[in-house]
Amino acid sequence: MMSVVTVSPILHNIDNLVGYLKRGRGLDCDYSDLGFIDERTKRPKIGANLGVPEEARFASDEISRSCGLRLGYIPKRLGLNDDVIDRLHNENTKNLLLNHKKLHLVLDLDHTLLNTTFLDNMSPDEEYLKTQTQSDHSLQYVHIVDTPSMQLMTKLRPYIRTFLVQASQMFEMSIYTMGNRAYALEMAKLLDPGNQIFGGRVISRSDSTETDRKRLDVLLARDSAVVILDDSKDVWTTDNQDNVIEMPRYHFFRSSCQKFGLSNGKPYSELKIDECDRFGGAYLANVLQLLKHIHTIFFNEVELQGWDLIDRDVRLVLKILKKEVLKGYRIVFSHVFPSNVQADTHPLWKMVEELGATCSTQVDPSVTHVVAANARTQKSCWAVKEGKFLVNPQWIHTTNFMWQRQPEDNFPCH
Ligand SMILES: [Mg+2]
Repeated sequence: MMSVVTVSPILHNIDNLVGYLKRGRGLDCDYSDLGFIDERTKRPKIGANLGVPEEARFASDEISRSCGLRLGYIPKRLGLNDDVIDRLHNENTKNLLLNHKKLHLVLDLDHTLLNTTFLDNMSPDEEYLKTQTQSDHSLQYVHIVDTPSMQLMTKLRPYIRTFLVQASQMFEMSIYTMGNRAYALEMAKLLDPGNQIFGGRVISRSDSTETDRKRLDVLLARDSAVVILDDSKDVWTTDNQDNVIEMPRYHFFRSSCQKFGLSNGKPYSELKIDECDRFGGAYLANVLQLLKHIHTIFFNEVELQGWDLIDRDVRLVLKILKKEVLKGYRIVFSHVFPSNVQADTHPLWKMVEELGATCSTQVDPSVTHVVAANARTQKSCWAVKEGKFLVNPQWIHTTNFMWQRQPEDNFPCH
C-alpha cells in the first residue's frame, strides 16, 4: 500500500526534489528504493534498488522503461522504479493542490511560446532584425553551446513575460519540447532568466519515453491535474490529448511560415508587426484568462465540491468549459468535406460537437449556422434567405482556439 506524506516538502524545484529524495529523512514514506546513478562509474550508489540484476540495469547508459523511468532532466540521472514514480506523482500533485492551490501546466516551446529561425534562413527583408536585439528584448540571438554551427534568432510571443509570471501563481510550470536538450535549456534561459518559474523542469526529446511522441509519464504529476499548452495535439500520446489546450501556431519568421506551407503574404517579421496587431490582442493574454477560469472552476466549482481535491480531474473541467462555447447552436456544413469522407468522422464535425453544438447534414428551422465553402451553394443561399448565420470554416477553428464564439461577420463566405 502506498505511503503518503501528510505535509510534503516543496517538490516544485528539481534541486529541492533531488535533495529531498537523497535525504529521505523525517518522512513517513520510504525512498530507499531510489536509484541514483554515479556519473563516473554509471553504477548505482549504495541503497539503490531497481529490482533487476545490476548487469541488466547498467549494461548501458540508459535505464530501460522495463525497470523504471529514467528522468534525464533531473540531475544525477535519477532512475526511479514504477512504485516510486507513482508515489511521487501523487505526492507532488497532492502537495501542489492542498498546500499551494496550484495545478500543473506543461508548456511547449516552438510555435507556442516562441518562434526560432536559423540566421542563415532569414530573408533579405528580415535582415533589419539583426540590429534590433538590443532594443527589443523579445528578440534574441541564440548560440547553442553544444552545436557551435547553430546560430539562431528567437522571437518570444507577445505578452510572454506577464503570461509566465501570472500563470506561475496558479500552476507549477514545466517546459516540454521535442527539441534537443541544449536548445531547450537555452530557451528556458530566455524565458526565465532567474530560473524562478521553471525550477529546472525542462523536458526535452531525449527524456521522452516514446519516440516522436510526448507523454506525461516523465512529469512528476498526476495526469488528472495537468493542463498542457501546445500548438499540436497530435504530438501527444492519445492518453494525454484530453489534457491539451491547442494553441494557434505562432509564426514570426519567414522560414517558419514556409515550413508550414503558409507562403501567402508576408510574415510578421517583414511587415514589422506582431501577432497582437493582427489577432485583436496577444493570444497569450487570451489563454491566460482561460487558465484563470480553469483554475477557479477546479478549486471552487460547486459541482466538484463533493470530491476531494486530489480526486478532481482538470480534463473534465476542460471538457465542460469547451461544451459551453457553442451550446444550443445547430450547424450544417455545405461543401466543406471532401465527397469521399463521411461527414461525422471529419475533424471539424467533431470539433463542433466538442464545442457543445449539434451538427446536421440537412437544413431545417432549428439550424442556426451554415458553414460553407462558398456563398453559392444551395445551403448558403438558404441561409441568406432564412436569415441564418453563413460563415466560412475558419469561424469554427478560431472559435475553437479562442474558446469563445466569434463574431460571425468576421468570417464571411465569398
Ligand atoms: Mg510546438
